[in-house]
Amino acid sequence: NADLADTDPALAQAIDKELTRQRDEIELIASENIVSKAVMQAQGSVMTNKYAEGYVGRRYYGGCEYVDIAETLAMERACQLFGCEFANVQPNSGSQANQGVFQALLQPGDTILGMSLDAGGHLTHGAAPNQSGKWFNAVQYGVRKQDNLLDYDQVQELATQHKPKLIVAGGSAIPRQIDFKRMREIADSVGAYLHVDMAHFAGLVAAGEHPSPFPHAHVATTTTHKTLRGPRGGMIVTNDAALAKKFNSAIFPGIQGGPLMHVIAAKAVAFGEALKPEFKTYIQNVIANAQALSDQLIKGGLDTVTHGTDTHVLLVDLRPKGVKGNATEKALGRANITCNKNGVPFDPEKPTITSGIRLGSPAGTTRGFGEAEFRQIADWIIEVVDGLAANGEEGNAAVEAKVRSEVAKLCARFPIY
Ligand code: PLP
Repeated sequence: NADLADTDPALAQAIDKELTRQRDEIELIASENIVSKAVMQAQGSVMTNKYAEGYVGRRYYGGCEYVDIAETLAMERACQLFGCEFANVQPNSGSQANQGVFQALLQPGDTILGMSLDAGGHLTHGAAPNQSGKWFNAVQYGVRKQDNLLDYDQVQELATQHKPKLIVAGGSAIPRQIDFKRMREIADSVGAYLHVDMAHFAGLVAAGEHPSPFPHAHVATTTTHKTLRGPRGGMIVTNDAALAKKFNSAIFPGIQGGPLMHVIAAKAVAFGEALKPEFKTYIQNVIANAQALSDQLIKGGLDTVTHGTDTHVLLVDLRPKGVKGNATEKALGRANITCNKNGVPFDPEKPTITSGIRLGSPAGTTRGFGEAEFRQIADWIIEVVDGLAANGEEGNAAVEAKVRSEVAKLCARFPIY
């Protein structure tokens, strides 16, 4: 049992370099976070060796008594976090959690209504290249032109017209809270299920800093690795016992085989962390920091979609400075600030170019950045963007180098791992 560094130096070196990258760069990707050592220990544990097809107490393999403890802890803690009766913690990812819900509640060819990708929805909510768009008749809603807020009137109109069997609320680039009550009223008006995909804001809900999908949603899905700050994975929660049974059958044997027991163990650890009072403070800081970042970017001459955020995520509209999302992502990357290009609603640019970048505060807040640091980061972003505005895609190398060295100093003051 030799060390990885000895048995596989190439791979060990890649991990080492990734650790250095995470330490030295400011992570602003809204869907990422930095897990605790405890979460990583659970995920890197011997539970990876175990097959446990089935559910707690009803497995298709022997020797499951200890992984059963892990899964039970994960389920109990998930139910406590979201005020729910039932949790399935086996989905390997957020996409598979959504697939599980569709498999349980829909037949191929059924109509679903979800937010379009270009308005802030997720691929799995009915986008054309995704299975959800190929196997279902996917109808898509968006946001209002005048204020970029979710267009509930359009949701109602499309629901009345297309009679979907399921409506999905949630997405990947929505800076404002969603009115779950209104979405449920629309769903009820056509006899549809309401499925809330809270992948992005689940941590905020868990901390009591964002309205809960319940009691309005029939079901909620989430990833466990974004604001919830756990291992990469997915989960389904509900209060409906009959639906819970269907979701269990849909995940196993419907779409998955053996659950990733090491990941489920790490989910249990992360959920335990999220139940602590410190997590509430963390999430309060996440929101305050995102607001500070948005505020300072606006002061510097950029705009953010809806001119702010209620959550951890903001969509920066770069058009006031006349630069593009792809060039900005690259220029910020050269300055060791990591983010992703992202279309803004009604974006005239192609998805490979875009007029925006998406930023988030979860990872930076985990390493200890406060509002002052996020305002400083906003100032650096403005400097780099101004370099692009003045010089085209090349940017301003001197400014980028200066910011990179300032970033290094900031990261050194807030070390991770
Ligand atoms: N749902 C939403 C709203 C998401 O933002 C994401 C991830 O980006 C997913 C689902 C999919 O999660 P995963 O990447 O784990 O499949």
